[in-house]
Amino acid sequence: MRKPYIAANWKMMKNLAETEEFISSFIPLVEGITDADILLAPPFTSLSLSAQMLLPTNVKLGAQNMFYEESGAYTGEISADMLLFAGCSTVIIGHSERRQYFGETNETVNKKIKMARSRGLEVILCIGESLEDRESGKTFDLLSAQLAGSLKDITMDGVTVAYEPIWAIGTGKTATPQIANETHIHIREWLSKNKENSDGVRIQYGGSVKPENIGELISESEIDGALVGGASLKPDSFANIVKGAIK
Ligand code: PEP
Repeated sequence: MRKPYIAANWKMMKNLAETEEFISSFIPLVEGITDADILLAPPFTSLSLSAQMLLPTNVKLGAQNMFYEESGAYTGEISADMLLFAGCSTVIIGHSERRQYFGETNETVNKKIKMARSRGLEVILCIGESLEDRESGKTFDLLSAQLAGSLKDITMDGVTVAYEPIWAIGTGKTATPQIANETHIHIREWLSKNKENSDGVRIQYGGSVKPENIGELISESEIDGALVGGASLKPDSFANIVKGAIK
């Protein structure tokens, strides 16, 4: 059985003071939990403080993005080594908001994953279809293409996949557990066919996950956790999602 993996993506939210307040309240709520992996991905400016506060805890630290070059004249970018030095174990790559607003493609995602893995950072790779793709029956082809492009020449060690239907992100619309699971089954089959030793790869679901729906989502066979946006911003809400994910 794969251990549930629950990750918080705070996006461009929370300054230092708000980060400190969140972590101080959140840690006691999840203290001692070992049956789920827990990750916080705050904005870059909160990474160092978060690293210090999370060091003695069971909560891992992640970043929301990075650049694929080692270092150099890339104004505004952050490298894999910088994330490691800031205390991150993990980086989220290819979130649909990065693809939509910042021109990220399967090719750039692939380069980023290669750089992250070469430095030992774990990766959460985000994939997902738009409403238009789903309604026109293209979901599975599109996801296969995203997986093939993003994971070209990459082994699955240290990589988690987050399936996030774009139409369910921040909209309050969750894919039904059945729709999510059918899609996870497709992803699992793609991984089995195309990648060696992929049985242990966890597939998170993301899209309006809340304490009220995590139980039914996690009870599906191929849903191994969640990537959570809005409902990860309050300590009790995120802690209840973590607790609700323990099967
Ligand atoms: C996300 O941004 O990854 C996400 C799933 O957001 P939300 O939970 O707010 O839908």
